[in-house]
Amino acid sequence: MRAWEENIRKVIPYVPGEQPKQKNVIKLNTNENPYPPAPGVRRALLRFSDFSYDNLRKYPDPTADALVESIAGYYHLEKDQVFVGVGSDDVLAMAFLTFFNSSKPILFPDITYSFYDVWADLFHIPYERQPLDEKFRIVKSDYEKKNGGIIFPNPNAPTGILMELDEIEEIVKQNQDVIVIVDEAYIDFGGISALPLIEKYDNLLIVQTFSKSRSLAGMRVGYAMGNKTLIQYLNDVKYSFNSYTMNQIVLAAASEAVKDEAYFQGTRKKIIETRERVKKELKKLGFSFEDSMANFLFVTHEKYWARDIFEALKRSHIYVRYFNHPRIDNHLRISIGTDEEMDRLIAFLREYLEERKEQGKA
Ligand code: PMP
Repeated sequence: MRAWEENIRKVIPYVPGEQPKQKNVIKLNTNENPYPPAPGVRRALLRFSDFSYDNLRKYPDPTADALVESIAGYYHLEKDQVFVGVGSDDVLAMAFLTFFNSSKPILFPDITYSFYDVWADLFHIPYERQPLDEKFRIVKSDYEKKNGGIIFPNPNAPTGILMELDEIEEIVKQNQDVIVIVDEAYIDFGGISALPLIEKYDNLLIVQTFSKSRSLAGMRVGYAMGNKTLIQYLNDVKYSFNSYTMNQIVLAAASEAVKDEAYFQGTRKKIIETRERVKKELKKLGFSFEDSMANFLFVTHEKYWARDIFEALKRSHIYVRYFNHPRIDNHLRISIGTDEEMDRLIAFLREYLEERKEQGKA
């Protein structure tokens, strides 16, 4: 190692799911929404290019006021209870930097969003992973020990398992000396948000995103909601890092995604219905899984290795996610696509498993 390399901040980065270049793939590997964003988003983008193109000379509004106002309005909050960022990844990274500043370890599940340990390492935050039980459930009592903060997704990822609201409240209540972050990236697919609890607990931060239920992963919009002191601290860190995180185009268009409630409810419902149907089909094929309340299923097969299935799927241009991590290396995470995409996945799996069975006999 060269001398200058010794003092470099070295990190093992988060590995995002693949974004294949070729067309005609069935992409079920990054929990994107298979339906387009609300039509109002497109109209706002066209309006922007027709009437506000010249404005790109200028910096955007550093407070992202228009977007903050829409989110606050949607959730019946004050504007100073909302923080926005470049996807919830940006919001979460800022929250780690702002709130997890203790010498005591922060706590999160051993199987969870694999960005948490990356941020903790990057910011030199000590952490301890708390093992999920054998059914992949968060064990509430593991979060009652001394700690420097808590974070978990609800529903958890990649398991999709939802934690009941009273259990979440219990964790927040037991930990009022630290900040508890609930990452609700997938809450709109059948869960109940812990948002109302922010009025009762000033140590609770709820993080959500436009990437999943609002079909805007490509626009990068995430937000946090909590009491105004928490939001103020988050903004102080943001302004010490980069004042202009949200660009003008995002500010002009993203609000439209929360305005069209009928469209939102429609796509949400379709995804939930498809998920429930696919659960039945996969069961018939010998897959097992815990009940997911997210826009993905986390499955394992009773006879065949997940990795083999993953590779076979990929060879036929169906992308799902495989994690080569302890405890979950025989699982696949399958995002819920359109009905047609899921039918093609199921047809492929049926044929593949049939072939394997024949080979086994031969
Ligand atoms: N939290 C969880 C649990 C996720 O799975 C994801 C998606 N990768 C995110 C946060 C971040 O999503 P985004 O940055 O697109 O809002």
